[in-house]
Amino acid sequence: MAIQPLTLDGVVPYPPDTVAEYLAKGYWHDQTLPELLFATARRYPDKLAVIDRDTQLTYAQLTDEILRLAAGLKERGLRRGERVVVHLPNTYEYIVFVFALWELGVVPVVAPIAHRRAEIEHFIDIASARAYITVASDAGTDLAAMAADLKDRWPHLEHTLVLDPAGGGAEYDALLSKGSLVHARRCNPQDVALLQISGGTTGIPKLMPHTHHTYGYALRRSVAERGITERTVHLLVMPICHSMSTRSPGFLGAFSVGATVVIAPNGSPDAAFPLIERHRANRVTLVPPILLAWLNSSLRTYDLSSLEVIMCGGAKLSEEVARRVEPEFGVQLSQSFGMGEGLVVSNPADVDRATSVRYQGRPASEADEIQVIDDEGEDVPPGEPGHLLTRGPSVIRGYYRNPEQNALAFTADGFYRTGDIVERDERGFIRVVGRSKDQINRGGDKIAPEELENAFLAHDGIHNASVIGVDDEALGERIKAYLIPRSPEHATELTLAKLRPFLRERGLATFKLPDFVEVVDEFPYTAVGKVSKRLQREQN
Ligand code: AMP
Repeated sequence: MAIQPLTLDGVVPYPPDTVAEYLAKGYWHDQTLPELLFATARRYPDKLAVIDRDTQLTYAQLTDEILRLAAGLKERGLRRGERVVVHLPNTYEYIVFVFALWELGVVPVVAPIAHRRAEIEHFIDIASARAYITVASDAGTDLAAMAADLKDRWPHLEHTLVLDPAGGGAEYDALLSKGSLVHARRCNPQDVALLQISGGTTGIPKLMPHTHHTYGYALRRSVAERGITERTVHLLVMPICHSMSTRSPGFLGAFSVGATVVIAPNGSPDAAFPLIERHRANRVTLVPPILLAWLNSSLRTYDLSSLEVIMCGGAKLSEEVARRVEPEFGVQLSQSFGMGEGLVVSNPADVDRATSVRYQGRPASEADEIQVIDDEGEDVPPGEPGHLLTRGPSVIRGYYRNPEQNALAFTADGFYRTGDIVERDERGFIRVVGRSKDQINRGGDKIAPEELENAFLAHDGIHNASVIGVDDEALGERIKAYLIPRSPEHATELTLAKLRPFLRERGLATFKLPDFVEVVDEFPYTAVGKVSKRLQREQN
């Protein structure tokens, strides 16, 4: 008998005619995420699915472990539609947990490991979570003690499962010892599959309800656009719960075609380069600060010759840096632009170089609807910057249990207001100009920080640059640049007096020149490793 879709309170549903249309046109498939994995496992049982530290699992072994973990979780009484906060580092156990929960129809709330009590407690509260899964400690924080405390505080939190700091351990083994489930459909593909965490550039992150349908659509698009095949060996370095690691193309994209995923604890050259050499990884997805660290790393003695494509997205990649990637690494640069809420665009593999360094991609399907509008809501012509709104088979219709934010962030007809300013050319390629709230207004002159950052990055002495507006009584805002020098010796060159002529030479108008520069060793980062301008603004 068919399993009816589950209604979760606090989830904004798709209108029934949209559901019918997306299914009829083949944007959404009648397939759950475990069904996608098990189909591949039947096709390639003996192929390596995942490599993590000393563990290497074939597709047959991975699906077997998932069914054993699912039996253990079922024995704990977890049922379809219930929510479980999963707060794990980059480990293969994360993958086994989310698939085991999906097999049962349970909804993981997937939190980056960098999150701490304030965020985790909020997720447990808002999602009325029945279980919390974490590791005993992370970067010096005692998460086991935190878990015990949270369990005492929240009566609906019945279970806490605490793995060893690097994954595995007695709790994990105990769960695996309860026998094995038989793979079967236990939920409807229209059900919420997971609650993803929003990037959180403003205050406490929001929860994004994604269904098996929205994720299935997004990963199929990504796999097709990026050319992922069964010969792909994908090094996963970004936090494992981020959409870049999960579905764009991420481990789900890889598993849909029988590729191999190699898990790195993080993206630093000393963690990632040895793994590329050892496992001959040919693909990786990075955010710009990590790509910069790779480009300027002294560890390039590792054999990285297996790398074919570096995918980069998640934040603005300056053109200056983009131009260095192909010559310096001998790889193809594949930019993308997207958001946890849904839309992801990327540059097709055969795009010309001028486009690949300047643009972040274009929608792969007419179903990915895009509006670029001015402050009055009118469409802007090609080449002009405007606010990006989007709707489509991968885009959520609202945040979970958040009507106030939904009224601001979504239009009545279901478009998501991304908060991004973009330009679109005649061909439909998108260039991200910046975030609307990052734009600096200096006495009426509008400055896109990215333009100034790009100019800074052409300077030999600058490793990275971040430009923000700081409050000013006379002008409203003035321009401040945080700069990381390439080496300590370069720091003395980075003064206003020396940098202003350099920027002028690069054609920047006088009103765009910085009022202040501050040389720093590091920037503050968000939980997924993007530069946090919010924290930088708070420092002023
Ligand atoms: P997240 O939900 O963490 O994926 O963050 C989504 C946001 O990251 C977008 O709304 C953009 O502001 C930003 N973003 C993602 N990709 C890019 C890109 N290629 N260029 C500029 N900004 C980006």
